Amino acid sequence: MLRFVLYVVIWCAFVNITVLVTPCVTNAQSARVNVFRVLGDGALTDGHFRITLESIVSLYKIESGVTLVPRVRVVKRNICPVYGIDFMSVYGAWFCVRDYYHGKGLWERSGKKFRGSFKRAPMAHFFLPPAIYLDKYWMTGLGGMGGRCVKRTGISLSNAYAVNQDGDTRMYQSMIAGAHEIGHSLSAAHVDSITIMNPDPLRLSLTQELHFDPTSVAQIRACASTP
Ligand SMILES: [Zn+2]
Repeated sequence: MLRFVLYVVIWCAFVNITVLVTPCVTNAQSARVNVFRVLGDGALTDGHFRITLESIVSLYKIESGVTLVPRVRVVKRNICPVYGIDFMSVYGAWFCVRDYYHGKGLWERSGKKFRGSFKRAPMAHFFLPPAIYLDKYWMTGLGGMGGRCVKRTGISLSNAYAVNQDGDTRMYQSMIAGAHEIGHSLSAAHVDSITIMNPDPLRLSLTQELHFDPTSVAQIRACASTP
């Protein structure tokens, strides 16, 4: 009888442990991201950069449950300036950062080249200084827009700066731009709602606080839970 009771107790404990552990395992959604902090005219200071990145990590954790694990590297000069605000200018900068990421520079110098293949590398996001166009600071961003989960290979960029040349703060917009583009690498597509994955989040974020649409959350969580 005692043995039977023990079996029941152990079995129940096992079931409980299984039930308790399973959600922990299935909810372990995370994504590593190589973050490049590119310095140059108007770039964020150390403190402002830290706030921006921590805000993005918190936003993802709170709204989607996904843990972003950034690894920050500083690029001491603006290797890929954005010369205009049209799509082709931003696209040019995207090719530039892609070549930088895939190229010889950083990885050979640091001795951390990924065994000849970037398929195993984490996605990358570049925080660039403001685009300076017609003597004004502008903010743009670009990431993969195909709605594909490119957690291992995605490359995105956004401009980030603390204040524009009229003295208006752009900290919140810098955070939203980074969150939006990283969202694309995690398969979030554009949505019509007034949320972070709207195609025009920077303008919307001037007047209101933005969150992730439930559709975006589902897409991001699904992508983050892939190996
Ligand atoms: Zn977008």
